[in-house]
Amino acid sequence: MNPMTKSRIASHWGVNAEGEVECALCPRNCRLKPGQFGFCGVRGNVNNEQHTFNYGCAVPVTFEAIETEAVYHFRPGAKTLCVGNIGCMLECDFCQNWETSQVKYLDWRNIKHYMPEDIVELAVLNDAGIISWTYDDPVVWHEFVLDTARLASKMGIKNLYKSSLYIEIQPLKELIEVIDIFSISLKSMSSAFYRRYTKGRLAPVLDAIKELARHRDRHIELSQLVVTGLNDDGTDARNTANWVIRNLGSQIPLHFVGFHPAYKYTQAKRTSLDKLLELKNIAVTEGIEYSYIGNVYEKDVSDSYCKSCGNKLVERFGLSSNVLGLDQKGQCLKCGKKSPVIEPFHSLDSVSNDTKETGFFKPVQDFFFKWNDKVNGVHIASEESHSESIKIQVQRLPDNQLEYLKLNRCPGRIIVTKRAENEVGVKISMDTKKKFSIIPLLDRAHFPVRQEPEAVKSNGMGGMGTG
Ligand code: SF4
Repeated sequence: MNPMTKSRIASHWGVNAEGEVECALCPRNCRLKPGQFGFCGVRGNVNNEQHTFNYGCAVPVTFEAIETEAVYHFRPGAKTLCVGNIGCMLECDFCQNWETSQVKYLDWRNIKHYMPEDIVELAVLNDAGIISWTYDDPVVWHEFVLDTARLASKMGIKNLYKSSLYIEIQPLKELIEVIDIFSISLKSMSSAFYRRYTKGRLAPVLDAIKELARHRDRHIELSQLVVTGLNDDGTDARNTANWVIRNLGSQIPLHFVGFHPAYKYTQAKRTSLDKLLELKNIAVTEGIEYSYIGNVYEKDVSDSYCKSCGNKLVERFGLSSNVLGLDQKGQCLKCGKKSPVIEPFHSLDSVSNDTKETGFFKPVQDFFFKWNDKVNGVHIASEESHSESIKIQVQRLPDNQLEYLKLNRCPGRIIVTKRAENEVGVKISMDTKKKFSIIPLLDRAHFPVRQEPEAVKSNGMGGMGTG
């Protein structure tokens, strides 16, 4: 760990008969002698007390759409303040965020320090009605998540927890009290898969999901990262669908999400569209009512339809959504049947569909970015502190539609993704000289730590970059 990082006493631990500190946060139950860190690298024994070393340590906050979190049935398109920690209690060979989840690879220059009040204030100032605990698994951030989520809840902000739920039941119960939306990543239904590729165990994950399912007022969606050659032969899709139907019910959305080669699993290809559609069809055949595919930028593959009359309720493309066939109460406009989509029109502030700019916009700097077969989204990253509101204009090419975004009082990021089949790229302009960068995004809930050279910076209002 960075020696400059201050620690504070952790929750959920005890001292065992051998005098070691024994952690009770995740089912790994690390036993630690003084000076030792747990498997996650962010909790350790300090003078025979367990301390957390990552309280408030986060990657820069990012504003994204709720669809980033594999949540399709809660406030479609809602602007979400995404907050990601460091460290993880698992070590998946194919980890999509390994540069921050595995502390040994961490570049501390990418890390910021926040207090709970900072996060809530940023959400309020930027009209984000949901705080999402995401990117790296938030389990090992338990104290900071709880402190912030409780504060956010008092301010009327919802909390979304995206996790593989490798957690003990007692801390999970604390989360259930304050988290509104759970997006659970169930990696496989095979114990051997968990042991070999995640360094964890399947049984505690299933126990935690069953405990969560007892609380029917919490919104739950499940996703499975489809890793080429590891869990994509249909067995996992079938077993997962059947387990979900038996334990959670057929109405729980089940997402199959494409993977990109990463960390120790780079020899495989990205998941193909055909494979994702095949697994989705298996889940639907088994009886799952709402199955979706993710990390795909295609039309007509992840829309929601009314189960009663077939009316299209929500249309999606990539991470964008458009509510078409629902009324304010979430009922089908054609037949009146109640849909499972919660608060479809709650969020007037989506990340990037404000097409009206009030006032004069004077671009000071602009970037061009061309979409390609791997990259269909970018983070616009503000790297300097600022106290004013920065306006960002997004021009979608070649149709030249304009959208306007704002970043109020923070160094942070905003996502922009491809929104239509014919879109070839974007021109992004800011009304400030403050330093910005455009960082390519490989997939959803991926937190890129580096700027790659694809973005072309222009001083004026020139043509499309060569990418
Ligand atoms: S949270 Fe960290 S220290 Fe605690 S048991 Fe899990 S891996 Fe070990």
